[in-house]
Amino acid sequence: MDLRIVDLSAERDAQPRYRLTDIDSAVLRDDEINGVSETCQRFGQRAEDISQPSRFCKGLRLGADEQNPHSCYDRMVTDSAARPARPPRSETREAVELQSIRAQHPELETAVDMHLELLELQRRIQGRVTLPMLDLSAATIERHQASARPLLRFEDIPLDQTDLRLMVRQTADVLRRFGAIEPSDHDKAQSLGRDAHLLATVGRWYTSAADRQLAMAGVAPIAANDLSDESALGPVIALAMRPFLSRCAEVLQQRPELSAWTHAHCALCAGEPDFAVITVSADRHLICGRCALRWKFEPLTCPYCRNSDRKRITSFATTDGKYRVYACDVCQRYLKAYDGRRATRPVMPIVDGVATLPLDAAAMQRGYTS
Ligand SMILES: [Zn+2]
Ligand SMILES: [Zn+2]
Repeated sequence: MDLRIVDLSAERDAQPRYRLTDIDSAVLRDDEINGVSETCQRFGQRAEDISQPSRFCKGLRLGADEQNPHSCYDRMVTDSAARPARPPRSETREAVELQSIRAQHPELETAVDMHLELLELQRRIQGRVTLPMLDLSAATIERHQASARPLLRFEDIPLDQTDLRLMVRQTADVLRRFGAIEPSDHDKAQSLGRDAHLLATVGRWYTSAADRQLAMAGVAPIAANDLSDESALGPVIALAMRPFLSRCAEVLQQRPELSAWTHAHCALCAGEPDFAVITVSADRHLICGRCALRWKFEPLTCPYCRNSDRKRITSFATTDGKYRVYACDVCQRYLKAYDGRRATRPVMPIVDGVATLPLDAAAMQRGYTS
């Protein structure tokens, strides 16, 4: 089975219509596509979706610029100083793109509005986060590559507890306002934001990703290190930690030694990828769902179970060729990707995560999970 890349030349500037072209030629009918949109509209409104962190958190990253991972952050700082009268949201490319999606796809309005608010929360905090001091020498990266252990220890994250508490509580408020979490989970998050054990809880959340990856690789036993009672708060914590982790990712992203990292999980934080970008040279770069670090990975290997049998990878794309899904027929998980080869802008995981909500629905209708 060959992956068929849809020719972008005819529809390069067209907006995504969410008519899917499947490599197995199972093109969805219009009524199915309408169903996809309706399903997606409910994403921001259904409380149960919060229990699936990967899907819920899709597209909630900052600084996602293919050419310059710093441009978003730097530009926002400059703009806010130079044009104080403008509403903050209009200052980011992500916000402008999200508003454009809302105008063209009213069915995504709820999701767009929620992500705009989360983006603004994160942007405000991220501007205050100091750059971490990290040992990112080639020798260190090689050592971590060999052990599959992430480079960033929890204690090295430049966490301001006041800001973290603010992020936890305000993130929960936004999610609750859009009906994305239950009132009981909102209350738990508010309590966590004031709890003396906040750092310990967040620390367990942070290290559990590495524990899972090392267990999968057979390097370490599976640790009983999940959030147990607080598991419903995982997505809230992930969103609250995004500004801090994204700043750390900025530091590593610009290091050429990152190319030595060949694992399917994030070199910085051990998070799973939840988006990808196909580069102009047809490489596939995975994008971490927690810190937004991007790193090169084999283009047709499932990052979740390492299945590399092309016959067991199903791929389908939007007809404008802008987005693609890799669905694994071994573990039944899927990964969305932005095809940057003929794109008019860099990948923006926040924006592209929202724009591709219909692809999530299409993948789930086919039995795959995020
Ligand atoms: Zn990461
Ligand atoms: Zn798989």
